[in-house]
Amino acid sequence: MFEIDKSQPVMVTGATGYVAGWLVKRLLEEGLRVHATVRNPADKDRLRYLDAAAAEAPGTLTFFKADLLDQGSFDEAMAGCAVVFHTASPFTSKIQDPERDLVRPALEGTRNVLEAVNRTASVRRVVLTSSCAAIYGDNLDLKEKGLAALDESVWNTSSSLKHQAYSYSKTVAEQAAWALAKQQERWQLVVVNPSLVMGPGISPFATSESFSLMRQLGDGTMKAGVPDWPIGVVDVRDLAEAHLRAAFLPDAEGRHIISGHDTSFMGMAKVLAPRFGKDFPLPRNTLPKWLVWLAGPLTNKAMTRAMVSRNVGHPWHADNSKSVQALGMHYRPLAETLEDFFVQMRDSGQFKKA
Ligand code: NAP
Repeated sequence: MFEIDKSQPVMVTGATGYVAGWLVKRLLEEGLRVHATVRNPADKDRLRYLDAAAAEAPGTLTFFKADLLDQGSFDEAMAGCAVVFHTASPFTSKIQDPERDLVRPALEGTRNVLEAVNRTASVRRVVLTSSCAAIYGDNLDLKEKGLAALDESVWNTSSSLKHQAYSYSKTVAEQAAWALAKQQERWQLVVVNPSLVMGPGISPFATSESFSLMRQLGDGTMKAGVPDWPIGVVDVRDLAEAHLRAAFLPDAEGRHIISGHDTSFMGMAKVLAPRFGKDFPLPRNTLPKWLVWLAGPLTNKAMTRAMVSRNVGHPWHADNSKSVQALGMHYRPLAETLEDFFVQMRDSGQFKKA
């Protein structure tokens, strides 16, 4: 499977992130020399789960300080690397200014990393962690585009700074990456486009939005019910595997939808209910759309009426067949992902209401 010289180091941006954690762990298990960029290498507490992964694996881990908005800050970590995994990008709903907090770090950060790649002769492949959010913005996009399912040829054209700014940030960042990749021939860009990532982190205290969603399912925030909001889900461990295959399979090319299951918030609650429903206030029913439209934005600042109108009650389907055929992906059952995640959050005390 591995055609690229494994004696050369590989680099991972945003190594402290939820998705990057499993990726770094898997690279270390493969015996690779991992150059991990973090914003604050002095914050040892944030690095301890990565250090623990390195202690158990044959590979080696070296931390480097880099910030997406600091041009040139990735050069030192990248020196000599064959592969660059660019995962760093803000994934949070806690934003004040979408341009400053989401789009600039995603877009300028991608440009800064890829300009460093252009300066680093050893790099042969870049794996970009994009998102299904760069393929669609709202579930209604499928109907508006006359699609039964999303595939890799589709681009998100419905998001903007004012509507679904995170999805917009991922779209413009991936587009910028393809534009830069096409200007040269030395390195190849391979993109993974995960749907909502769930499953236990290597740290139980990750700050990714994935953790906020699972917390709300278990801590009673959603006990009155959930919107009928179809969505795709992939396991964080499967996503790490997809990154490795995108990096090391010689023929990997283009974009890849990495999504194991078409589900919904209610679908996830139903999977969790048999094992945890007795002890935790999981949602038991779906809220009517008019109620979500009326009350949703009042209870959740990140939800707008346009988001409710364009997503609630509209189906979501993605065609993951390219990932299965080209990357050989196998997706674990949804119950395994959600139950493992729920147990991790329960055992680390994260379902207690503040
Ligand atoms: P996360 O845990 O919040 O990780 C984001 C990472 O980006 C963190 O390491 C963070 O560093 C880093 N970062 C943010 N701003 C930065 C800056 N200015 N300079 C340097 N690093 C910066 O979120 P995640 O869920 O793992 O997301 C990782 C990637 O997967 C992102 O590209 C995201 O868009 C993509 N993705 C995630 C999902 C999902 O459901 N989780 C789905 C599809 C795609 P700090 O640790 O220092 O904050």
